[in-house]
Amino acid sequence: MRILTVLLFIFSWSILAQVKYMPPSFMDGPRKLIFMDINQAYHQLNFLEDNNIEVVSRLDFNIYKSGYPLFDLVPSENLEVYLPIKKKSTVVCDKYYQSECLRRVNFYKTNFNSYVEPMYYADKYLLFPRDSKSSLYFFHTLKNANQASRFAKKSGFNFVFEFCDGNSKRQLLERYLPANLQFDQYPMTMEIKFANKFKKQKIITNDIKSKRFKISDYHYVLSYPEFYNSASIFFHTFAKGYFHEYPVRTVQGAIFYIYGKKDLLFEDRFSAGMGYKKLTNPWPQTYKLMQELTSTFGAFPHKEMIVYVGEKFSGIEHFGATRTSFFSLGHELYHQYIGRGVFPAGGRSAWIDEGLARWRDGGHWFWRWLPGQPFVDPYSSLKDLPRKYVGLPHQSVYQRRTRNPSFGKDYAYAAGAVFFSHINYKLNDRLNDLLRDFVKSRISSKNYMYNQSDFKKYLAKWANENGYSGLNILNLFNKFFNQNLLD
Ligand SMILES: [Zn+2]
Repeated sequence: MRILTVLLFIFSWSILAQVKYMPPSFMDGPRKLIFMDINQAYHQLNFLEDNNIEVVSRLDFNIYKSGYPLFDLVPSENLEVYLPIKKKSTVVCDKYYQSECLRRVNFYKTNFNSYVEPMYYADKYLLFPRDSKSSLYFFHTLKNANQASRFAKKSGFNFVFEFCDGNSKRQLLERYLPANLQFDQYPMTMEIKFANKFKKQKIITNDIKSKRFKISDYHYVLSYPEFYNSASIFFHTFAKGYFHEYPVRTVQGAIFYIYGKKDLLFEDRFSAGMGYKKLTNPWPQTYKLMQELTSTFGAFPHKEMIVYVGEKFSGIEHFGATRTSFFSLGHELYHQYIGRGVFPAGGRSAWIDEGLARWRDGGHWFWRWLPGQPFVDPYSSLKDLPRKYVGLPHQSVYQRRTRNPSFGKDYAYAAGAVFFSHINYKLNDRLNDLLRDFVKSRISSKNYMYNQSDFKKYLAKWANENGYSGLNILNLFNKFFNQNLLD
């Protein structure tokens, strides 16, 4: 009996650990929609001659209550996601923020070799036994996915996971593959097959050299580690010679692989763009930025760093990789510590890493106290900020994005940066010390994911242990956000 009790305790503890950040179930009319806990995902991507990508996926998952399991697969406006089985899944939207949508599973099958057979149609609950292990199989097509120029298309395929965090849209893996929201970490395997006409494809993907198998020039298997979530994977394939590639260099212990579109690197025709700089020689700036970051935070958390220069101004971070402009390189490298070295459990917590990254950028245009300068609290100099702050940590738990247009376009970044400037002021310019300790403690314990509540608790603990016991962090958060932070 005692053994049984101990086993039950261990079992329920492991479930609790996995579902810690899982968003709550919600009702869609009479249906209860539940989140699944994916154990592993397998995706086969077939790059076809007609420039489409056919995708076959299997998700192995647990659920802990009955209801309609949700998965995330949301087509973007530029890329058609055709689901032959779409009658058996339905798009549902979080009612609070209508643009955040998930797919509800209306079908279920138990065996990969059997054909897709819906167990239930729309108006019945899909009941799974509690704690069951299940798999979900399906097929979809990414239409017109080849972004190569017309001439290059004849023999090459240019395709990259274009994640996005701009203009109110945060689009991650769900643009391309069935996935979960960011709370779920699970190993993913991608099997890549190219049609015969694509002879010289190159694959660039994150820090996984040891787990990359080349079966032939047309066939690869890639494995990603179990701590990845839907924001981690960088995947790019293109025909050799399609982009300019710099020879790799080791910078502060990390192998840097920099490559990009030739027109963004060398040619002059975009030079009028705001903040736009060409990357004719990327190394001096890369060394400078890495010097700044490693002296602030310590060792770079990735063995390899992929820098794909595919943007004029913006950028997006992956795990040990970025699609960026030269202008945003410092911001994206900062995220390799906070944002992708340790990372938010959902869109609602992502204002933290964006606010901090903007605060770092704000060495130029936000407030950071520097020795010899007047010590001014940025909060007191900005009268209309409280109104803007109120909603920041209170956005929907289901959303992916860091920005909500109803709060203003640059919301998480600008408001977050001012908030952290204020915290830095209260800590006598020691916020970077706190952040270095935070990153280090979470990476060393492999506890990479955090939400707002974790972050706030760490701030309070650090302040208490480092001589700021009189500083009430909870009050600071309340002062800015008007309410206690939600998890
Ligand atoms: Zn950012």
